[in-house]
Amino acid sequence: MREDNCIFCKLANGEIPSATIYEDEDFRVFLDLNPATKGHALIVPKEHYANLFELDEELCKKVMVLAKKLGRRMKEKLGCDGLNLVQNNGEAAGQTVFHFHLHLIPRYKEDGAGISWKPGSLTPETREELLSLLAED
Ligand code: 5GP
Ligand code: ZN
Repeated sequence: MREDNCIFCKLANGEIPSATIYEDEDFRVFLDLNPATKGHALIVPKEHYANLFELDEELCKKVMVLAKKLGRRMKEKLGCDGLNLVQNNGEAAGQTVFHFHLHLIPRYKEDGAGISWKPGSLTPETREELLSLLAED
C-alpha cells in the first residue's frame, strides 16, 4: 500500500529521484537531505507504514539485518568510528516524516552531532511501578 501524499512513498519507489545507496524489493536506502553527519542515510520500506507499530513483522527483521550490512559498509568505506541507529515514532519522539524509516548515522570522533539525552535517575518507587507495568508475569 502506498499513500498519495507521502514523500517517502515517492522517494522509496523512485517516483522522485534520490541519492540511493541500496535498493532491493522491500527497501530503498538513500542519503538524508539534511544529514547529521557525513553519510547519514535512511532505510525506507517501499510500502507505506507510518511507524514501527504498523511495520510488518518480516520487514522488522529484515530492516535490522540491512542496517548491519550497510553499517559495516559505512565503517569500511567511510572510516567512521561508530554508528547510531535512530528510529523515531510519533511527533513526541521527533518524527517528522510519517512513513517508517531507520536513520543510519555514521559517527566520527568529535563530530559534534549531539545525539544524546540528559540522564535522569531511576527512583526505587518508579522502578517498582515500571516493573509492575511492563515486565511479563
Ligand atoms: P524523522 O525526524 O521523521 O525521524 O526524520 C526525517 C528525516 O527525513 C530528516 O532527517 C530529514 O532530513 C529527512 N528528509 C525529509 N525530507 C526529505 C527528502 O525529501 N529527501 C531526503 N533525502 N530526506 C528527507
Ligand atoms: Zn509513505
